[in-house]
Amino acid sequence: MSEDVAVVGSGPNGLAAAVTMARAGLSVTVYEAAEDIGGGLRTSPLFRDDVVHDICSAVHPMAAASAFFREFDLAARGVELLTPRISYAHPLEGGRAALAHHDLDAACAGLGRDGRAWRALMGPLLEHSRAVVDFALGRQRSLPADLRAPLLLGLGMLRHGTPLARHAFAGPEAAALLAGVGAHVVGRMPTPSSAAVALLLGHLAHGSGWPVPRGGSARIAEAMAADVRAHGGTLATGQRVDDLRQVRGARAVFLDLSPKEFLRIAGPLLPGAYRAGLRAFRYGPGAAKVDFLTSEPIPWANPEVGAAGTVHLGGRQGTVFRQESLVARGRPGEVPFVLVVDPAAADPGRVGAGGHRPVWAYAHVPHGDPADPAELVTARIERYAPGFADTVVARSSRSAADLERYNPNYVGGDIASGAMTLRQTLLRPVPRWDPHRTPLRGVYLCSASAPPGPGVHGMGGHLAARSALRHEFGVRTPPALSPAPPG
Ligand SMILES: Cc1cc2nc3c(=O)[nH]c(=O)nc-3n(C[C@H](O)[C@H](O)[C@H](O)COP(=O)(O)OP(=O)(O)OC[C@H]3O[C@@H](n4cnc5c(N)ncnc54)[C@H](O)[C@@H]3O)c2cc1C
Repeated sequence: MSEDVAVVGSGPNGLAAAVTMARAGLSVTVYEAAEDIGGGLRTSPLFRDDVVHDICSAVHPMAAASAFFREFDLAARGVELLTPRISYAHPLEGGRAALAHHDLDAACAGLGRDGRAWRALMGPLLEHSRAVVDFALGRQRSLPADLRAPLLLGLGMLRHGTPLARHAFAGPEAAALLAGVGAHVVGRMPTPSSAAVALLLGHLAHGSGWPVPRGGSARIAEAMAADVRAHGGTLATGQRVDDLRQVRGARAVFLDLSPKEFLRIAGPLLPGAYRAGLRAFRYGPGAAKVDFLTSEPIPWANPEVGAAGTVHLGGRQGTVFRQESLVARGRPGEVPFVLVVDPAAADPGRVGAGGHRPVWAYAHVPHGDPADPAELVTARIERYAPGFADTVVARSSRSAADLERYNPNYVGGDIASGAMTLRQTLLRPVPRWDPHRTPLRGVYLCSASAPPGPGVHGMGGHLAARSALRHEFGVRTPPALSPAPPG
């Protein structure tokens, strides 16, 4: 093997590592097991040629905000991020709904007596948004010189990640709104980790927004792959790596893999303590997804909800907390938290002939749950949108167990590629000063199982690449990522 760099897996982190290394002038090959690139960034027609569906990720607050993508500059590469007027909505009983308008003033006005508390929470985070994002999506091993971002997050975690969360707001709307965004942690609630997720994603809802890419998430992967190719790299699909030795000829190897897959392909090569650390890595609850083709927009009882790109169906704060904690203990509970995305709310081009539109939804379910979620998810949407079932023209579903078969990184259907406990949020995958560097010379773990964790932000790959450039190639200044020539 003659390449300088081998990347195993072409998810957003694998591609970010490949972009960074290729731009440093190194020869790069990406090996992807599936027939198409992208990992969690795939889009394809499922029922009709003129309607595409995002297979995994659909909404991109982190791709709009992360340091990697800020410099990579998706817009300059023709990837248009379309921001809905309402970032996310949380319907409640009786046609009521809490609405996270992109515009903070509008959101606060809609929250009535809790508007001031919402502004007091989100305003300072927005003021220091760049620092908050860079800290939360960083290596998680050190504090920045300016401590305002960690302080803001820390205080918010105490207030909203402990039993105090139950007393943070006067009415049910604001409390449910924050609980819904915190539920993206897919685990026990309230915890410091769920609060950190709520603060990061919650403030971005009023900042750079919760956009969808025009035409689907695959546009992001395509732009990254094009950059790798433009800098001499190669992407090899249909190439599953079953033994790390297949790629050990490269001077640096990036594994865009879960610890489970890392152990499968490299277990015997790893020193005992590190191997034990990877074995002890815990995975969280699963997601079970349903893709719908509908004949018309979702008939939400509260029509304002239709302007939201993302809708959280979880009921009041107490119900969200109880339900998420049950699922984290392996019990299904009675009112599963369901997240619905209507990409056409921001990207009308997703609507096909005759008004057919894609609707994407998943339920939080116990780890590895083999149950087909189609009926359950349809019923949950129907509860807040009576008549929804009659608009469904076609649907297909994947259980949590199916999701792991689709992509081994989603162990037991865990779309965060590792439980977001406080320990694993701060110290994933194992406690080491350089979290991406493994004890095997030149081998780096760059997936969502390493810092900064799940989501489409490219930071796991980019930070791992920066570490490898320093340690394997003696390069201390990372390459420019912008499409424009430097200077
Ligand atoms: C249903 C669902 C919805 C989601 N929604 C969102 C969302 O809206 N917004 C958001 O930001 N995030 C979302 N996520 C999470 C996001 O997709 C992931 O956090 C992200 O894709 C992780 O990126 P990654 O590069 O670490 O790994 P992945 O994207 O999982 O990519 C890993 C790649 O490695 C390949 N691979 C695995 N094993 C091997 C092997 N042995 N050899 C070769 N290749 C291999 C896989 O085929 C895959 O292509 C969602 C995830 C799911 C499943």
